[in-house]
Amino acid sequence: MAAACIFCKIIKGEIPSMKLFESDKTFAFLDINPLSKGHALVIPKHHGEKLTDIPDDSLAELLPVAKKIALAAGAENFNILQNNGRIAHQVVDHVHVHMIPKPNETEGLGVGWPSQ
Ligand code: C5P
Repeated sequence: MAAACIFCKIIKGEIPSMKLFESDKTFAFLDINPLSKGHALVIPKHHGEKLTDIPDDSLAELLPVAKKIALAAGAENFNILQNNGRIAHQVVDHVHVHMIPKPNETEGLGVGWPSQ
């Protein structure tokens, strides 16, 4: 845990979130500024800025949990996105996987994100 990290504070409950899942290694919640309804973030409890900073065992649940959330949300079409570094559009410096439901063909992913 990093004292100043906003996602570590969310894990600890110091900042409220719409929690979707929690295990000993993983936490998931709804994105505060969703690109589509059901946009979720799945994060390791182990604090690290980038994917390359995190041990493999702390990463193992990220995709399975994103899959569970997509299934629970009934999202047949969705994007999984994971940004590392400012140039790659990372804003929050705690590893996170986005699960972004894609409800129809016209909705884009927003500025700075790959359009589909
Ligand atoms: O991958 P990137 O770092 O750009 O995305 C960070 C994400 O964290 C954004 O989608 C933002 O809306 C979300 N966020 C959040 N709750 C916060 C701060 C950021 O859901 N308190």
